[in-house]
Amino acid sequence: MTSKEIAQFRKNLLAWFKTHHRKLPWRETKEPYRIWISEVMLQQTQVKKVLEYYQKFVDRFPDVQHLAEVNLQDVLKIWEGLGSYARARNLHKAAKVVMRDLAGEIPSDYTTFRKLPGVGEYIAAAVQSIAFNQPYAAVDGNVKRVLSRLFLTDSPVNQSTAAKIFQANADLLLDRSEPGAFNQAMMELGATVCRATSPTCIVCPVNNFCGAFQTARQRGFPVRHKSKPIPEYHLVAGIVHKDKRMLITQRKRDGLLGGLWEFPGGEIQAQETAGQTCVREIQEQVDLSVEVIAYLTRVKHTYTHFKIVMDVFRCNYQSGDVALNKPVDYRWITIDQIDQFPFPRSNHKFIPLLMQGEENNNE
Ligand code: SF4
Repeated sequence: MTSKEIAQFRKNLLAWFKTHHRKLPWRETKEPYRIWISEVMLQQTQVKKVLEYYQKFVDRFPDVQHLAEVNLQDVLKIWEGLGSYARARNLHKAAKVVMRDLAGEIPSDYTTFRKLPGVGEYIAAAVQSIAFNQPYAAVDGNVKRVLSRLFLTDSPVNQSTAAKIFQANADLLLDRSEPGAFNQAMMELGATVCRATSPTCIVCPVNNFCGAFQTARQRGFPVRHKSKPIPEYHLVAGIVHKDKRMLITQRKRDGLLGGLWEFPGGEIQAQETAGQTCVREIQEQVDLSVEVIAYLTRVKHTYTHFKIVMDVFRCNYQSGDVALNKPVDYRWITIDQIDQFPFPRSNHKFIPLLMQGEENNNE
């Protein structure tokens, strides 16, 4: 595009955004904290889902100081169901850094902000441009799709080697006088007009500048590198009962689903039945001998990089002290206490059955 075309592109896009943008709570504020929370939540998550969580989060933790002062478990409980829990753990860590090292002020310069835990290039550019009007182009999945069609970019959007190409094109288009509005406009265009399937090019404010539209090749872009099918793991979980309480354990802080609570269990090995796995895993993980007394259900869940099929059993405690020789955080809880702990989605798929079971037992 020539510089004249780029100027017209910006004008068209911003005019369209001003009249067509969706009203979203994080667009009603200039508070860096709220913008930061919304951008972290929006990473790899649909707006509809974020709307369920954003208000709860900022009501419970209205500023960076509140967030820094609460326990991680309180943060995970609010985040429960939103997925990618590393985002919540990093936000919590970052809030502590802001309070401890930055006098409670969210940095208004890109370099300092980018050093906070969990702040990558996208979050840094989005927050700095929207909250502080800093001239950084934010490139998320929606923006990559728009750029690939505008410029007929044939580098796969899902390969990291192409990131520089998309960033360079985004930098070229960025309106430096209104970077926050411009970035949001590009994202909004991708989310509502230049959709993955059936883009509505006829109403697109920048169709005059779009290579894909001009050559009727929208379907060919973005180019994607074919990824391998994701693996599936067969797991078990055991509900260990003892004196009307159930055992739950906490996952290590720095791994997948870190800091969440779950019912103990693990992966089925070759030559093992699911019931045998349950007994073995509980012995290995928490030093308890248990007896499987009933099959409860099977649940399935898909994470970003793998799927699980989980068979769930009820077990009776037989002997042993929990985690006698292991650094495992655990609780014996009643069914009424279950809501106090954050659990992964896979566990939430069978928790209602436990509640029903308790109701029946109490009748
Ligand atoms: Fe996307 Fe169509 Fe607009 Fe091009 S003209 S940017 S393909 S919506």
